[in-house]
Amino acid sequence: MKFVRFQQGAAVRYGVLEGENIRVVEGDIFAKWAMGNQTVKPEAVKLLAPCAPSKGVCIGLNYYGHANEMKSAIPKQPLMFLKPSSALNHPGGAIEYPAISQNLHYEAELVVVIGKQARNVPAAAARDYILGYTCGNDVTARDIQMNDGQWTRGKSFDTFMPLGPCIATDVDPADIDLKLTLNGESKQASNTRDLIFKVEDLVAFVSQVMTLYPGDIIMTGTPAGVGPMQIGDTVAVELAGIGRLENIIVKG
Ligand code: MG
Repeated sequence: MKFVRFQQGAAVRYGVLEGENIRVVEGDIFAKWAMGNQTVKPEAVKLLAPCAPSKGVCIGLNYYGHANEMKSAIPKQPLMFLKPSSALNHPGGAIEYPAISQNLHYEAELVVVIGKQARNVPAAAARDYILGYTCGNDVTARDIQMNDGQWTRGKSFDTFMPLGPCIATDVDPADIDLKLTLNGESKQASNTRDLIFKVEDLVAFVSQVMTLYPGDIIMTGTPAGVGPMQIGDTVAVELAGIGRLENIIVKG
């Protein structure tokens, strides 16, 4: 199943993709819901990020290839940081190039969407707490990230957390092809088989520290090939079995 969240007039609703249409869901997919009778055309509504997380938990340096290109040691445990909820961005949304950065980077990532409240969840039970998976772009002001040492400022600008287009519930997170194109040109191409720490381990690791609420996300890290984006660029993250998340870069 593929869940979407969309705006229709003033209302924000969930739906399920059915071929070319969206079947509107009654209720909240993170609580109680049922299939509705109404369908809408995707072009008739504004597609939103498929969830509105209270926090974006991110994992750094979680692909062997990316750790190598950053000249970083392979982490012995997951390297965790946060993006604030205010960084949320949507399919087709504009990523704002901050005036105080000269090196804005894309990072294609598999994103875990938490389905029910999770605290101290063992890896063996992690799948029970995951609703599904979506595409994310861990947009990064690389110069600010490197200058600060702490990653918060470089990772947290408004618009730096695009998610979407849907939450796919039936994909195997251990074997997903992911790619990123910039203005149609291939920049990143990998598979989640190359993740250093797997999705189940990440849910266990993060939930040891903080409560994960329904709709919270874990961005699982990016493969090799990170690089700069310019104002006017179109960036697209594509994950097999999930979909395509496209955004444009504008002056901040
Ligand atoms: Mg990242």
